[in-house]
Amino acid sequence: MEKQLILIIGAGLAGPALALSLARHSIKSTIFEIRPSLSEPGGSITLAANAVRALTLLGGDELIARIQAAGFVYTRMTAFLSTGYRYGDLVVGEEGEGGVPAVRIMRTALNKLLLEECEKKGVDVRWGKKLESIREDDGGVTAVFEDGSIKQGSALIGADGIHSFTRQHVLPEPPKPTYAGSCVINGFLPRSSVTTPTPDYPFPAMIFSPSGLLMTIPIDPSGQQLAWGITKTVPDDKGRAGWAAYESSGAAYADAKADFDNITTEPIRSLLDNADAKTAKLWAAYSIPDLPRWHRGRVCLIGDAAHALPPNGQGSAMAFEDAALLVRLLTDSKAMERGYEAVFGHWETVRRKRVEDVKKHSKVGGMMKSSHHPESWAWWAKTWLFWLFITVKNRGVVQAGAGFSGYDVMTENIEVE
Ligand SMILES: Cc1cc2nc3c(=O)[nH]c(=O)nc-3n(C[C@H](O)[C@H](O)[C@H](O)COP(=O)(O)OP(=O)(O)OC[C@H]3O[C@@H](n4cnc5c(N)ncnc54)[C@H](O)[C@@H]3O)c2cc1C
Repeated sequence: MEKQLILIIGAGLAGPALALSLARHSIKSTIFEIRPSLSEPGGSITLAANAVRALTLLGGDELIARIQAAGFVYTRMTAFLSTGYRYGDLVVGEEGEGGVPAVRIMRTALNKLLLEECEKKGVDVRWGKKLESIREDDGGVTAVFEDGSIKQGSALIGADGIHSFTRQHVLPEPPKPTYAGSCVINGFLPRSSVTTPTPDYPFPAMIFSPSGLLMTIPIDPSGQQLAWGITKTVPDDKGRAGWAAYESSGAAYADAKADFDNITTEPIRSLLDNADAKTAKLWAAYSIPDLPRWHRGRVCLIGDAAHALPPNGQGSAMAFEDAALLVRLLTDSKAMERGYEAVFGHWETVRRKRVEDVKKHSKVGGMMKSSHHPESWAWWAKTWLFWLFITVKNRGVVQAGAGFSGYDVMTENIEVE
C-alpha cells in the first residue's frame, strides 16, 4: 500500500475528526483552514447517539469522556404545549446499560477538543490557508493556496463545509447553497433567570406553540446554563449582509420575541423576557441540493461539503459517520489496492443511502417546527396529532431517533466491488 499523505481542507468538525482517526492509524495528514485561528464561542450543538458512536470510533473513549465533561449529557427531551400541557418525552439518546446518550456542547468547545487531540497525535494544522485550486495527476494531488504556497499529497478530502471550494473541483458547475426558509434565533441564559411552573420542571424541553418551536437545553455538566432557540419562518433570503444586519440590529431577536408576546405561560415568558437581546444570534438555514457526485479522482467531499441538510440535529453526525467510514476504507489494504477513485466511489455509494434515510426523518422535524395562526385548523390539528402520537399511541415515551441514531458504521460492508 502506498505511503499516504492526506490533505484535508477545513478544520471545522469533520476535518479534525478525520485527521485524528488517520493519525491513530499512523496515516499522516495535514489540515488547511481558511480561518486565522479557532473562532470565538458561537452556538451550541447536539451530538446525537450516532454522532457520539462515530466519534468514539474516530477519537476513542478518552475523547468522548472529555466531550461529555465539557457539555450536558442527556437522553430525553420533554415535549410541552405552550399552554403548559405535557405531552411526554422524546428519547433522543440511548438509555440503559451500554446505551449511548446524547451530548449538548458549545460548537467551539467541541472544535477545540478535536484540535487538541489532533495536536497530541502530531497532526499538522495550518491556519489562514485559503484553498484556491487543485491539480491532479497519476502520482497524486496538489493543493494551491491563496498565499501562493502549495502542498502535494496522495489524496485530498474537502471538509470545507456548506460553502465548499473543493466542490468546484469535483463538479464543473456546483449548485449554490439555497436558503431553507427558516432561521434559528438563539442565545444563552442562566437557569436561575428562568421561572418554571414546578420546581422539578424538566430541561431539556421543547415547547410547541402557534408561533413555532422553542427549545431549551442545558449546555454545561451541572445543567445551570441554558441554550435556547426559536425556529422562525422568514420567507425571503436576506443574503449574507442582510442576515448579519438583521442579527446585529437586534431585529431578529425582537421579531422572534414578538411572535411569543401573547404567551404568558412559564418557562417561555421569563426566558424571553430575561434573555440578553444583545448576545442573541441568528442562524439562517441553508442546504445544498443533491449533488450528482461527491468525489472525483483523488478528491472526495465529506460532511456539509457533500450534503448539507436543512437543520435536523444530524449535520455533525453525518460528518463524523462520513469520516469514520472513510477511515475504515483508507486503512483497508484490500480496498486500497483498487486506488482512491474506487475507494471513494464505494464510500459514496454507502454514504448516499444513509444520508437519504436521515433526510427522510428531517421532513418530520420540519413539520414540528413550523408556525400557524393560533385559531387555524392546522394548529388545532397539530396539537391533537401530537397528543395522539406522543401521549396516547406511544404512552408518553417516543423513541425519537430510533430510525437513525442506532446506526453503526462498523456494520457496513467495505468490500470494494
Ligand atoms: C447554528 C448551527 C446549529 C447547528 N446545530 C446542530 C446540531 O444541533 N446537531 C448537529 O449534528 N449539527 C448541527 N449543525 C450542523 C453542523 O454544525 C454541521 O453539519 C457540521 O459542522 C459539519 O461539519 P463540517 O466539518 O462538514 O463543516 P464545518 O464545521 O462548517 O467546517 C468547514 C471548515 O472549512 C473551512 N473552510 C471553508 N472554505 C475553506 C477554504 N477554501 N479553504 C480552507 N478552509 C475552508 C471553514 O472555515 C470551516 O472551518 C448546526 C449548524 C449550525 C450553523
